[in-house]
Amino acid sequence: MPSAMSDKQLFDSFEFREKYHCDDPLGSFCSPKGTEFRLWAPTASEVALRLYSTGETDTCLREIFPLRDEQGVWRYATGEIWDGLYYDYLVTVDGTTRATADPYARACCCNGARSMVLDLRRTDPEGWEEDKAPPLPPETVIYELHVKDFSWDPASGVPEEYRGKFKALCLEDTTLRGDGENPTCLAYLRRLGVTHVQLMPVYDYGSVDESGDPEQFNWGYDPVNYNVPEGSYATDARRGEVRVREMKQAVQALHKNGLRVIMDVVYNHTYRLDSWLWRTVPWYYYRQNEDGTPSNGSGCGNDLASERSMCAQYILDSVLYWAEEYHIDGFRFDLMGLLDADLMDRIRQELDRRWGPGEKLMLGEPWSAGSTAVRPGTVLADKGALGRMDKTIAVFNDTVRDSVKGKLWSAEDQGFVNGGGLDAGRLADCVRGRTWRPDGADNLPSQTVNYLSCHDDWTLWDKLSLAAGMDPTASPCPPALLRQNRLAAAMLFCCQGELFFLSGEEFARTKQGVKNTYRSPLAINRMDWARAWENRDLVDYYRGLIALRKQLPGLRDKSAKAADRILSVTAPAEGCAALLVDNASPDSPWDRLYLAFSAREDTVALTLPEGEWAVLANGESSLLWQDPPAAAGTAALPPVSALILGRRSQGEQK
Ligand code: CA
Repeated sequence: MPSAMSDKQLFDSFEFREKYHCDDPLGSFCSPKGTEFRLWAPTASEVALRLYSTGETDTCLREIFPLRDEQGVWRYATGEIWDGLYYDYLVTVDGTTRATADPYARACCCNGARSMVLDLRRTDPEGWEEDKAPPLPPETVIYELHVKDFSWDPASGVPEEYRGKFKALCLEDTTLRGDGENPTCLAYLRRLGVTHVQLMPVYDYGSVDESGDPEQFNWGYDPVNYNVPEGSYATDARRGEVRVREMKQAVQALHKNGLRVIMDVVYNHTYRLDSWLWRTVPWYYYRQNEDGTPSNGSGCGNDLASERSMCAQYILDSVLYWAEEYHIDGFRFDLMGLLDADLMDRIRQELDRRWGPGEKLMLGEPWSAGSTAVRPGTVLADKGALGRMDKTIAVFNDTVRDSVKGKLWSAEDQGFVNGGGLDAGRLADCVRGRTWRPDGADNLPSQTVNYLSCHDDWTLWDKLSLAAGMDPTASPCPPALLRQNRLAAAMLFCCQGELFFLSGEEFARTKQGVKNTYRSPLAINRMDWARAWENRDLVDYYRGLIALRKQLPGLRDKSAKAADRILSVTAPAEGCAALLVDNASPDSPWDRLYLAFSAREDTVALTLPEGEWAVLANGESSLLWQDPPAAAGTAALPPVSALILGRRSQGEQK
C-alpha cells in the first residue's frame, strides 16, 4: 500500500475500491451444515478470532486464525455447529492490535462488546413464515413511538415484567389500569387508525447499560451494533437470541393488528468514533477533515463515509437485513442529509426490486447538524437532492411544521393556529406539501412527510402552551389551547403527502416543557395513559381525521397532478383562509372539498361555492362525515377552528 498516501486519500481512491470492494455477505453464519466467519479488514496484517462459551466469561475457548483472501476478507469455515457461541476479533493494523466485536454481528452479548453465532431460524416465533404486513393502506399515517416510554406507565395496564419491552407491543388487549374498558397501547393504536408505527431506535445502542438500572432512559440515537436489536427492550439481555426473537414477536403482533412497522435508522454516525467499524478498518468508514480529525456534521463527533463503497454496502446490507429477517416495512433515515443521494437511490431500487415498488417506505430528514467532509463530487441526500433522487423517498416537511404552530427556535414564535398570521399563499404551499428547496422547484406529495411534532423539540402541546405563555402541565387542559390543537391537527390532515405525528400528540402529550428529552427521566418521557383518557375527546378528533383522510382522494393524491387539484385559495377575512380542492374520484361521494381555517377570535361568515355541501368535520368534531349535516350558500366558521366540507357528487355539477 502506498505509504505516502494519507488514509483519507487511500480510502477515497478508485484503486482501493477496485482492489478491495467485496459483495459477499459478511459476518458469521450458522446453519445445520456448519459455521462460517467473514470479516472485511483489508488493511489488517493479522486477524485472530476468539470463541467464548458465554457473553461474560473471560477465558476464551479457542483462538483461530482466519485466512485472508484477495479482497481483504478474513475467512474461516467449519463443519461444526457453533450456534450459541460468542466471539470477537483481534485485528492488527500498522502494528497495533485492537479487540473488536464483529461489525456485521446479528446477535451479541449484554451491552454488545462480544458477538454471537446464531442460527437465526431458531429465533423465528411461531407462525413467522406466515407473517405478512397488512395490505398497503390508502394513506400513510405514521405514529412515532419509543419502545420504553410507550408502556412504562403502570396505568398502561401492561404487566410489570413487560413494561418498556418489545413484549408490551405483543399485548393486544390492555386497558387503562386494567379497567377492561379503555384501550391502551396496541389496542389503543388499533382504534386510533394509524397505519404505520415508527419505532425510535431499536437497533443496539450504547447509552443505556443493559445490565443496569431499569429506570435508565435514552432515545437511542447512538448505534453500537447496527444489525442487532437493543438489549434493554428484551426480557433477557444476556442471552443473545432472546432480543432477536422478542423483536420479531413485536413486529408480528403489530402486523397482526393491522399496523406496518418502520424502523428509525441512524447510519450517519456511531455512538463513538471508536466503534467496531473503526477498530476493524481504522478510518475507512469515517469522513475526515483535511487535518485528519473526524468530520462532525452529525453533531455527535463523527460522520460515516457513506460515499465509500464498502460503507455504502454496509448500510445497504443492514437495511436489507432488517427488511428480510425482521419483516420491517419502512425506514426513517436520521440526518439523511449526511448520507449520499446515490446510496439512497440504490437502497430504494433494491427494496423495490425485492419486495415490489413502494412496498417498503423510505423517509428521512433532509438535513444535517453541520457541514461534513464528504468526498468532493458526492451529492448529499438533503433538500438539494430532491430534484434527482427517487420520487418515493419522502422527507420531513419543516414548512408545514413551522407554519402551523410556529418555529422551533424560540418558544414564543407563533404559527397559523396561535396568532402568527394566516397567509393564504403559505397555506396553499402547506396543503400541497411543498417545502422550501434550494432549486426553487416543487416536490411531489410522494416526497413529503407532513408533521407538527416528532421526538425532537417540544411536543405540540408544550409548544402551543409555551407560545401562549401558559403552563403545559395545567390540568385540565385549557379549552383555548385544545381548540388550537384541533385546528393544527385539521390543517395537518389536509396537507397532501404522507402524515406523521409523535405518539401522544393526539392526547396533548406534555414533556413538561422540556424541549429535548433524549435522556430525561421516564417521569417526563413516559406516555401518560391517564392523560390519554382525560383528553379522549382530542384523541377522538385525531381518530376522526385519520379515518376521514383515508376517504379523500383529492388530498391522498401523490402524483404530479396533485397540485392541480387545488382549484382556488381565498382569504375570506384576515387570519382566515379557504381552499377549494378537486376531490373527484370514483370511490368518493364528494367531488369537491372546501377547506377553511381560521385563527380569528370571532366567527367568520363564509360564502360557500355553489352546490350541496356536507359538513365532514368542524372545529369540534371530525366524525361528522359519518352522518354529515348539509350546508349550502353560507357557513359559519367559529373562532380558531377548521371546517372541512365535501360537495355531493352530481354528474351535472362536474
Ligand atoms: Ca445496547
